[in-house]
Amino acid sequence: MERVYNFNPGPATLPVEVLREAQAEFLNFDNSGMSIVEISHRSKPYEKVHNQAKADILELMGLGDDYEVLFIQGGASLQFAMIPLNFATKEKPGAYVLSGTFASNAYKEAQNLGVGEIAASTKDENFKRVPRQDELKINPNAAYLHICNNNTIFGTEFHYVPETGNVPLFADMSSDMLSRPVDFKKFSLIYAGVQKNLGAAGVVVVVVKKSFVEKSLETLPTMLRYDTFYKKNSLYNTPPAFAIYIVGKVVAWIKNCGGLGEMERRNKIKAKLLYDAIDNSDGFYRGHAEKDSRSFMNVTFRLPNEELEKKFVAEALEKNLSGVKGHRSVGGMRASIYNAMPIEGAEALADFMDKFRKANS
Ligand SMILES: *Cc1c(COP(=O)(O)O)cnc(C)c1O
Repeated sequence: MERVYNFNPGPATLPVEVLREAQAEFLNFDNSGMSIVEISHRSKPYEKVHNQAKADILELMGLGDDYEVLFIQGGASLQFAMIPLNFATKEKPGAYVLSGTFASNAYKEAQNLGVGEIAASTKDENFKRVPRQDELKINPNAAYLHICNNNTIFGTEFHYVPETGNVPLFADMSSDMLSRPVDFKKFSLIYAGVQKNLGAAGVVVVVVKKSFVEKSLETLPTMLRYDTFYKKNSLYNTPPAFAIYIVGKVVAWIKNCGGLGEMERRNKIKAKLLYDAIDNSDGFYRGHAEKDSRSFMNVTFRLPNEELEKKFVAEALEKNLSGVKGHRSVGGMRASIYNAMPIEGAEALADFMDKFRKANS
């Protein structure tokens, strides 16, 4: 069977080169006579994978050794809880920008602990845009400001880095991590569940200023403390070796392609193809996101009615365009065009959108 263009939001498409390499070396990894999932996480071949992935991530982000990369399990969803547990208190609460579902889920965890407050929200507008800088009400006493950089479900993205004064900036970049150059130095903590743009489910990449994670609250359980991961090079317990190995391959692939500038160039071409198909459709396709907030990663749009939306999904699949159905909370379509989606995939979808519109309007 031939491979489809996979527009799923996560788990999501991966570079075919990465899949081929993993396949080729699966039975005998690095001359060990074992696969990566059978080898000890204390062995030299594994350590090489682990440390190279960390180094490549920092290099791509242009960050120096005042930052550390941690590999943590539990998904981005566990970070929603670990962040307030480790950093927020009643006196110094965590401040949250509510720009979508995951941003709100992050806030809920802090709220449950009694240490969260809202700095801005676009919920009243059904999250069709991210808040502007002038709408952010940042408590100067906050432990951090938390944003979700790309709202996977609604298809909106921050195209500016919020100014926060002396308040540290934290970001969930699960769905746009390493998709373009960003001034990462402005962030104190960035995290990403890797199954969107960086690899196979099972690990979260946390990039954090070392000064933040040298010491955690003694009262926290070992596995919920950032300093456990920091002090032991994320090898306190058995790491998800296969997931980290794939992340290593994906970041090496990004470097080989030319880095984040090249990712941005490709991602902008893909996004433009799809947004043009929406904008040039005489209202047949209606984008969910306001233009200023449009995501380069997740393109969300509706059709004139649900009947046509069902038909669109079915006919797209016949053309090997898979995973275009939107999230139930927004409805309609969502095309996820992460780093690994080839430009030809976006061209094929844009072409299909055009033909479908002409046949059905
Ligand atoms: C998918 C996603 C999450 C949830 O990730 P899990 O790893 O499934 O917990 C959180 N934030 C964003 C932005 C996401 O896209």
